[in-house]
Amino acid sequence: MDVLVVGAGPAGLTLGIALASRGVAVRVVDQADAFFGGSRADGIMPRTLEVFADLDVLDPVLANGDLGTLMRAYKGDEVVWEGEMSTPVDPTPSTPYPNIWMVPQFRTEEILRTRLASLGVEVEMRTALVDFTQDDDGVTATLSTGERVRVRYLVGADGGRSTVRKKLGIPFPGETDEATTVLFADARIDGITRDHGRVWPIGDGGAGVVPLAGTDLFVVTARPPTDAAEPIRDYLQRTITEASGRDDIVVREVTWHTTWRSNTRLAERFRDGRVFLIGDAGHVHPPTGGQGMNTGIQDAYNLGWKLAAGSDILLDSYEPERMKAARAALDLATQLLEKHRRGDADAHVRGPEVQGLTLNYRDGLLSRDDREHPGATVAGDRAPDAPVTVDGNAVRLFDLFHGPHWTLLAFGTSIPRHDFGDAVRAYRIVDPDGHARAAYDMADGTLALVRPDGYLGLVTTSADRVADYWATVTGQSRP
Ligand SMILES: Cc1cc2nc3c(=O)[nH]c(=O)nc-3n(C[C@H](O)[C@H](O)[C@H](O)COP(=O)(O)OP(=O)(O)OC[C@H]3O[C@@H](n4cnc5c(N)ncnc54)[C@H](O)[C@@H]3O)c2cc1C
Repeated sequence: MDVLVVGAGPAGLTLGIALASRGVAVRVVDQADAFFGGSRADGIMPRTLEVFADLDVLDPVLANGDLGTLMRAYKGDEVVWEGEMSTPVDPTPSTPYPNIWMVPQFRTEEILRTRLASLGVEVEMRTALVDFTQDDDGVTATLSTGERVRVRYLVGADGGRSTVRKKLGIPFPGETDEATTVLFADARIDGITRDHGRVWPIGDGGAGVVPLAGTDLFVVTARPPTDAAEPIRDYLQRTITEASGRDDIVVREVTWHTTWRSNTRLAERFRDGRVFLIGDAGHVHPPTGGQGMNTGIQDAYNLGWKLAAGSDILLDSYEPERMKAARAALDLATQLLEKHRRGDADAHVRGPEVQGLTLNYRDGLLSRDDREHPGATVAGDRAPDAPVTVDGNAVRLFDLFHGPHWTLLAFGTSIPRHDFGDAVRAYRIVDPDGHARAAYDMADGTLALVRPDGYLGLVTTSADRVADYWATVTGQSRP
């Protein structure tokens, strides 16, 4: 076995797919008795949608969600505020999925599990990681079933309370604010329409009721109950009736609920030898800005192809690239939480900063740009989409990137003669409408090598440097 992934939340499932689709022998274990059934992270960011397209799960994700609904704040019957979290925009040639897409987390996990199973990997439930040791050649893990597993790499995707992180002794500094708590519940409710979400604020309390995409449920937010003995349905009924002043809204059933505590933490390291942390195991966020799950999925997508290749420089690049991303996501979520605490009028509004499209690895170990006069897009940036012509056929760059290979784009120059086999696919870009040139801003004679995870690794004018770079980074012999 090559890799043991501990935890089958969104991060662990994404990593399982990224590995299994490359033919890596992987097991994904989870200590839970049953699959997770709550809405939790229901906002999928544009960059995550691009990742999902590459992992072949975009269609079911789009089929099971929506763009989110209009929100209205009420005082009694009167609407005192109305707006959208973000205003939907049309796709552009460089950004085919520009909007946040709402899907409940349990549905996203179900879709990822189905894709993983189609690659021959079933999640092993009721199987906890209990302990592990590592040496130069691998990791020996002990599972709650009594089994001992020997793998080349172990990945902790085991959430905020990560056993893997604790066993490694990696500190998890940050803040838990017991005073900032919110009850989140998924409920079946009669008496209200699904055409918009409702908030009835009362002081720092009240209630919110928002339709949950792709289901007949609503997500209810309220202050957590103080009487633990009161059934949760009764508590929500009472709270909504009091906040709305309406007695025609009936809470019929509560399918999931949790009390969220403000918890903002970042692990000091994401790696110890052959053991890696991804997702909440490495960083926990306030839900403001919808960064938690999305950042974890990006961690997995960043690590998958590197574990499959296994070269030192690729594995070394994981922690600095993703630490920077996690810091940025935590800062953003914290700023938005402060806006909510202050009661800013635009606290519900989300701008492009939450979408993940501008995140880059410019100062990362894998980014090299040897042009004297780089344009606006440089090594380390996300490689944008564009409609282009290849061998007389109209294609999208994202179609050329789709799959486990690297992609070499030749702008106004011929493709190098080096034989990379199928590991690197090279295309001379013919750009009839100028979209690729607009997105990449690269002069004639430029070669851009796109990593398997869709970021620009090398930008150069020398074919030899492409061969050198690729051999160095992957640890393969120079073509
Ligand atoms: C109320 C709420 C709203 C949120 N809203 C958003 C949002 O809108 N957008 C967003 O991006 N994020 C949001 N989040 C955060 C998001 O839910 C998490 O970031 C995400 O679930 C983390 O995924 P993960 O795979 O890293 O970990 P988890 O989903 O926590 O999964 C970890 C898994 O590991 C398993 N496990 C734990 N220990 C072991 C062990 N020893 N052995 C085996 N298995 C183990 C657990 O059973 C679990 O299944 C929200 C969170 C909450 C609570």
